[in-house]
Amino acid sequence: RQPIVAIDGPAGAGKSTVTRRVAKELGLLYLDTGAMYRAVTWLVMNSQIVVDDESAVAKIVKGVKIDLIPGNTPHLPVEVYINQQEVTQAIRTPEVTANVSAISAQAAVRKELVQAQQNYGVEGGIIAEGRDIGTNVFPDAELKIFLTASPQERAKRRLSDLQNQGYKDINLKQLEQEIIERDNKDSNRAIAPLKKADDAIEIITDRLSIEEVINKIKELYSN
Ligand code: C5P
Repeated sequence: RQPIVAIDGPAGAGKSTVTRRVAKELGLLYLDTGAMYRAVTWLVMNSQIVVDDESAVAKIVKGVKIDLIPGNTPHLPVEVYINQQEVTQAIRTPEVTANVSAISAQAAVRKELVQAQQNYGVEGGIIAEGRDIGTNVFPDAELKIFLTASPQERAKRRLSDLQNQGYKDINLKQLEQEIIERDNKDSNRAIAPLKKADDAIEIITDRLSIEEVINKIKELYSN
C-alpha cells in the first residue's frame, strides 16, 4: 500500500487547515474523521433520542452511510453526507460541537466509524486527521504528527473560524473553557482517548505560521 499520514491533536490546533493543504500538495486523500463523529452527532440530535442513550445511538449508527466528498470552498474542505442527506454546514454548529464528545465516547459509534476509516485507508495514499489516528485507526502509519497549541491560541483560532461562519458576539474566554472541556472529555474517555502516539512527532504551533507547519510536515514526509 501507499504511505499513510496520521495527524492527531486537540481541538483548534490547526489540524484541518494544515491537513487539507498537505493532502493537496502531496496528492494524498484527505480524511476528516472528526466530520464523521459530527455527522453521527447531528443525526442523533435530529432523531427522537438523547445523546447518552447508548443503545438507541447504537441502533442509529449501525450501517450508517457517511460520504465525504472533496469540496472546493476554502472554509469547508469536504462535503459531508449522512444517509444521503447533506450536512456539511450543519455539523459545524456550536450545538453539534457541544454534543460530539458524548457521542464519540460510545463503543458502538467508534467501532462503526473506525471500520469505515480503515476502509478508506486500505490502499494507503491517505492523510487522516483526528484524535486516535496514530494510536488506533492507523497504528502502522508511516508518519504520525501530534499537532498542538496552547488553549489560548486554539480558542483564538476557533473564534476566527466561527466568525468566518457568520457567528457574532462570541466570548473568547467561554470558547477557551469549552475547548478545554471538550479536550478533557476526549482525553479521559475509556476507548481510544485523545493521546499522542509514542512514535508521533509533536509540533507545537503557537508561534508557527500555517506555511511553516505545512513545510515541516512535507519535509518529514519526504525523509
Ligand atoms: O476534529 P473535530 O473538532 O471536528 O472533532 C470533533 C470531535 O469528534 C472531537 O472533539 C472528538 O470528540 C471526536 N473525534 C474522535 N476521534 C477522532 C476524531 C474526532 O473522537 N478520530
